[in-house]
Amino acid sequence: MKANRRNFLKSAAVLSLGTVFNTTKAESNINALTQLTGAGDTFELPKLGYSYDALEPFIDAQTMEIHYTKHHQAYVNKLNEAIAKNPQLKGRSLDELLAGINKLKIAVNDSTAIVNNGGGHWNHSFFWTILKKDTRLGPLLSEAINRDFGSMDAFKEQFEKAATGVFGSGWAWLMKTKEGKLEIRQTRNQHNHLTDTDIPAGSKPLLGVDVWEHAYYLKYQNKRADYLKAFWNVANWEKAEELYVKK
Ligand code: MN
Repeated sequence: MKANRRNFLKSAAVLSLGTVFNTTKAESNINALTQLTGAGDTFELPKLGYSYDALEPFIDAQTMEIHYTKHHQAYVNKLNEAIAKNPQLKGRSLDELLAGINKLKIAVNDSTAIVNNGGGHWNHSFFWTILKKDTRLGPLLSEAINRDFGSMDAFKEQFEKAATGVFGSGWAWLMKTKEGKLEIRQTRNQHNHLTDTDIPAGSKPLLGVDVWEHAYYLKYQNKRADYLKAFWNVANWEKAEELYVKK
């Protein structure tokens, strides 16, 4: 009986994911992810939506495969383990868990596990959607970049500086604040705008780059700056424009 219910919930979750994808192109994987996690009782690896070699030669197929099937899957598994130990958290969306992490009355190591692995799940689910070759910067985001950074070149320079400047593992982000301003942010490990209180509430990422060594070491070894230069060839500006325009 329990197994049947679980299967039913999973089917319902998959259906809602399909609906989100089919009905409005504007809905991102992240929204689908939130729906999925709210409906089922475990978190799942989202569909990648393209082949492992789709970003070659800028991001190599082997890195993509390991990154998605090993690293991202491990975050999902460990997040599910932490939730299983705290069944009162079942059914909560990932956004809810991460944004409310300090209010949860759970053991410190479970809270840390949710930030690390829930953050890892959120960040990677987002990252896969903002990678695509040969996209063009849209008019509205282009205007905002010129307004807030002076020029595209100046923005790229500041973004690369922020990303190379992350000490150890972490992420660099292009964010849109609640007021509509663009900002570059760094987060450490798997933190993001939901977990970090120094990022104003209501900010949302438009682009993000994973600067953990696992994201680039096979191809670029220790040359993070080269990986970041290559990143511009796979930054999905269509998606960034869509996220920028969306309320
Ligand atoms: Mn990663």
